Amino acid sequence: MKRILAALFALLMTLSLCGCEKLQQRLDDGKEKLHEKVLAVSDETLEAMNTVMQLRLYGDEDGAAAAELKSILTELDAALSVTDPDSALYALNRSGKSSDPTILALLNETAALTERTNGAADPSVYPAVRLWGFTGQNYHIPLQSEIDEILPLLGMAHVHVSADEVTLDPGSALDFGAFAKGWAADRCRAALEARDLPAVLTLGGNIQTVGAKPDGTDWVIGVADPDDPASYCLTLRLTGSRAVVTSGDYERYFEYEGRRYCHIFDPVTACPADTGLRSVTVVCDSGVMADGLATALFVMGREKAIEFWRGSNDFEMILIDADGISLTEGLKDAAAEAEFTVISR
Ligand code: AMP
Ligand code: MG
Repeated sequence: MKRILAALFALLMTLSLCGCEKLQQRLDDGKEKLHEKVLAVSDETLEAMNTVMQLRLYGDEDGAAAAELKSILTELDAALSVTDPDSALYALNRSGKSSDPTILALLNETAALTERTNGAADPSVYPAVRLWGFTGQNYHIPLQSEIDEILPLLGMAHVHVSADEVTLDPGSALDFGAFAKGWAADRCRAALEARDLPAVLTLGGNIQTVGAKPDGTDWVIGVADPDDPASYCLTLRLTGSRAVVTSGDYERYFEYEGRRYCHIFDPVTACPADTGLRSVTVVCDSGVMADGLATALFVMGREKAIEFWRGSNDFEMILIDADGISLTEGLKDAAAEAEFTVISR
């Protein structure tokens, strides 16, 4: 009897092991398929808008989406370059008028942000950027008389926009450097959403996530350490489509007699902003808004930036200064790997 029971037990074990193996095999096959889906990643790198751009797309099997993004980015670069004599923006700054649809569309967005930030982010700051040599990396501190000469040329009152044309007062000029990468990210996001493809795009200091990460985990976005911009001082875990844009004093600057002069200008003084902030990161749903606000909040400085945030409900921000990292309460659960102070409402 014992032998019969032992044989039956052995038979059952063999059968169930076979069953397990089959089941395991099926699970493995499934995983393989899942894995294939997760791993269908393609990376593209290109240079546009004075920066290196990295596009990480998921599931772009034939490369069509990458090709579409590249063409969006190179076309915007060609239209909005402030230094390329063939660009529509260069022509506007030279002739004082333009009917270019890209310029008109972007101007529409930036004018609203200039108004909202009370002029802290303003594309008409360009004569100041140029005077200080940030256009051709011919950095120098201008004479106060030169600054006084260009100050009256700044401000959107000198920019006249109608439905099909923009004209500039003599001497005024525009630069979309504070907005264009965010706007480009919005255009890329729309193209990817139309194709239902998730992605993470790094356009210089602008990061745009699109859709859900295929493996079900969060997007992990690093925020640069202003003292060592190649490494991160904080990471954010985010889901869905988000714009994460940083403006920092380490991106472009020169130093003279121990003082740093960075590429972000205060349109009120026509001088580089110097409020003690090292960087501002904005997280929100719109790339152009994140870009414009990051620049504007950097110009405003810590106290005014906090006041501005308290009066808004459509973005979160991270401020980094000599005292460390502060972030608004909506980001406190997303932030990791750093010590920070929480800014509450
Ligand atoms: P961002 O890196 O987005 O903060 O943009 C900075 C770039 O925008 C600079 O390199 C300038 O070309 C331009 N810029 C500088 N200051 C301002 C400002 N206050 N408003 C608009 N554009 C600015
Ligand atoms: Mg900006």
